[in-house]
Amino acid sequence: MIIGKSKKELEKMRASGRLAGLVREHLRLMVQPGVTTLELDTAAEKMIREAGAVPSFKGYHGFPFSICASINEEVVHGFPSNKALREGDILSIDVGATLNGYVGDTATTIPVGRISEDRRRLIRVAEECLERAIEQCRPGRRVGDISWAVQQHAEAEGYSVVREFVGHGIGRRMHEDPQIPNYGAPGTKDKIKPGYVFAIEPMINMGNHHTKTLPDGWTVVTVDGKPSAHVEHTVAVGEDGPLVLTLVSDSVLREEQIGVEA
Ligand code: MG
Repeated sequence: MIIGKSKKELEKMRASGRLAGLVREHLRLMVQPGVTTLELDTAAEKMIREAGAVPSFKGYHGFPFSICASINEEVVHGFPSNKALREGDILSIDVGATLNGYVGDTATTIPVGRISEDRRRLIRVAEECLERAIEQCRPGRRVGDISWAVQQHAEAEGYSVVREFVGHGIGRRMHEDPQIPNYGAPGTKDKIKPGYVFAIEPMINMGNHHTKTLPDGWTVVTVDGKPSAHVEHTVAVGEDGPLVLTLVSDSVLREEQIGVEA
């Protein structure tokens, strides 16, 4: 059952979404060759807890960290580690923050230093898929329209979409109904209504769509070893269209005086 949110609940989700977005942008500024993903994890947890929130992923089904950090052929759910990021890597960071009982969930894929043109294009297309999917979050459209928007654009650009992991409804719990696959047919599945909140998260592979989970039980990688990009926003459905709760503008970042740590 899809749980619609009241205006009051949407205000709370705006706050948790904003926090998750701020953490994501803070981490983006930290990313450079030599930095470890464990350092990013520590910074994220500190920022989330200082805001009076809880890192939603930590302990979720036993996940041991505050963020997921997935490098290159890692698709999602990568463990932060002591291994330094290298020039040319692409790093997907996924952040969840629970504030006043509501979850904000967001992800982005960040270039480490200078990256190849084909990786840059992969990230750009993943972001375009997310934008197109968000456009579908309006009353009267259906969940299948979101899925189709992602699949259609990714495949038109020569990429494939991951099948095993999906976007989702979000609220008091991180994963609520409906499931929102990144593939599907337009005009199918649930009708979208005002007050629904979705975490939309295209996972786009440069090669084919097949993935497997590593022996750590979490890290998902592409079977063909080619890179993958993951981007995600938490989006509320308003009467007039989508409201992206995890969007954070540059000016907000400046106001918050969020900067790169030495
Ligand atoms: Mg999610």
